[in-house]
Amino acid sequence: MKRNRYNIIIVGATHGHETLGVHVWEQLPRTSRVRQHARFLVGNPRAYEKRCQFIDADLNRIFPGDANSTLYEEHRAAELVPQLRDATVIDIHATGTIDNPHEEAMAIIVRDDMQTRALVRAACPPRALLMRYRAAGALIAHARCGIALEYGKSDDKAAQDMVRTAVERIVASLCAQNHNDTADAEKSAAQCEYVPLYEVYDVVTRPPGEWVIAPTVHNWVCVHKGDTIAQCTKTGNVLRAKEDFIPILFGENRYTTIFGFCARPTMENV
Ligand SMILES: [Zn+2]
Repeated sequence: MKRNRYNIIIVGATHGHETLGVHVWEQLPRTSRVRQHARFLVGNPRAYEKRCQFIDADLNRIFPGDANSTLYEEHRAAELVPQLRDATVIDIHATGTIDNPHEEAMAIIVRDDMQTRALVRAACPPRALLMRYRAAGALIAHARCGIALEYGKSDDKAAQDMVRTAVERIVASLCAQNHNDTADAEKSAAQCEYVPLYEVYDVVTRPPGEWVIAPTVHNWVCVHKGDTIAQCTKTGNVLRAKEDFIPILFGENRYTTIFGFCARPTMENV
């Protein structure tokens, strides 16, 4: 079978309100290489229908799920696992914390191996992030090989264009690895020479109460030990950094228990 012989799966709306991946897929012409060689899945169909993050639990935290669970996402994860297991998976997310995708977009990986690195180089994001914090329950952790794209807001044209290009390049590169198509080989030769690799090693926990993130905190810009991270609107109490770290996905209001992730540079390129 020619169609999808490389077993590439593109997932959108793993978080139901993150519609970016669905938009990108729908905008691709039916004759495009991506449509010819990959298939598309809505990660969380019920949440997507309601445009909410999830129904019972965060799907991207609970893999491999449980087929006997009464929680919808546990059930859905278990349903997806057999499909993902042998596939190369591109999981397209969206985030309100990114204003400028050209500067702030990132590819997230949960394993650091040669195949995964090849996906990152093909996608060519400004930065790559190795998730070392509670990554076992993530969707891509249950794929043969996987990459998640966090490029920006669902309705942001620049984010959509960048994601589409990244997906096209990944698919072209996978095709070129598998057969001698000159055009594919040429496209994949356009791979990035290097993508700086960061690693997430912790989170900043949100204390109880109403807090606002300090205006001085910007994603990808190092917060130094002693700097203010957030302030309580009621008490005026201030949360300070215990050490230097690079804030990631700070400002996402869907996180109720954390402000965001802490990363550090690995001093390595993918
Ligand atoms: Zn997401």
